[in-house]
Amino acid sequence: MRLANKIALVTGAASGMGAATARLMAAEGAKVAVADMLETEGEAVAAGIAAAGGTARFIRLDVAEETDWEAALATVTGAWGGLDILVNNAGISGSATNDLYDTGLWDRIMAVNARGTFLGVKHGVAAMRRRGGGSIVNLSSISGNVGQERIHCAYNASKAAVRLLTKSVAVQEGAAKIRVNTIHPGLMPPMRTSGATADPVFRAKMLGHVPLGRSGEVDEVARAILFLASDESSYVTGAELHVDGGYLAS
Ligand code: NAD
Repeated sequence: MRLANKIALVTGAASGMGAATARLMAAEGAKVAVADMLETEGEAVAAGIAAAGGTARFIRLDVAEETDWEAALATVTGAWGGLDILVNNAGISGSATNDLYDTGLWDRIMAVNARGTFLGVKHGVAAMRRRGGGSIVNLSSISGNVGQERIHCAYNASKAAVRLLTKSVAVQEGAAKIRVNTIHPGLMPPMRTSGATADPVFRAKMLGHVPLGRSGEVDEVARAILFLASDESSYVTGAELHVDGGYLAS
């Protein structure tokens, strides 16, 4: 039980890597708030955790809305007494458009991926300060480090914002014993909002740049998140962990 007695909130936990992370954290002993806009899917993830003997509850949260964050943190700390772990995982893709300079899409991607992570950090830090410390894991991407074809530049910009937001807060909150790190997944199963990155031709081309020669699995990312969330990484803050089969090394 690597997260015994820990209280965690995972955003975007109704699907993909967020759901895998919520399940793994609950299996490791944490009480887990499954936060998402998708109510049916989120409730199902929480129910699955409970059926497996874990502790979870679904919370409806739009990460771009500050009032939602205030309500979510009040619910978690009211029910369970505090917050030890926050995983800012919710995100939307930039690969479902042919207009790579669409202004409305810039605003929406930045609102969810960048502002959403900022708001999570802001309210998570406040809760963790009351607790005497904690661990925040933010989902960036290989797209936070380098550009790619056929992806709206807002996706890269938003994930780069997550990367440096993380280092900034890691520096500022070290004295409060709050660690903040990023995970950078590479070629993974497509997101719900993916377009080009779900195209087999695009994926085959991307795979050519992956030294391990395959795409990743959601549980491989969840295990990396677990390490950064747990006390096993107690001297790691402001770091970025690439879970990309070597893509960024090549
Ligand atoms: P996914 O689409 O399966 O899951 C994303 C979840 O975020 C969904 O459940 C969705 O409902 C939720 N979400 C979207 N907007 C939200 C909002 N405003 N408020 C609350 N929840 C919201 O995607 P995934 O592949 O599991 O991606 C998880 C994270 O990993 C994202 O931040 C993504 O950018 C990042 N990432 C994904 C890949 C990939 O190839 N899949 C690669 C690198 C990084």
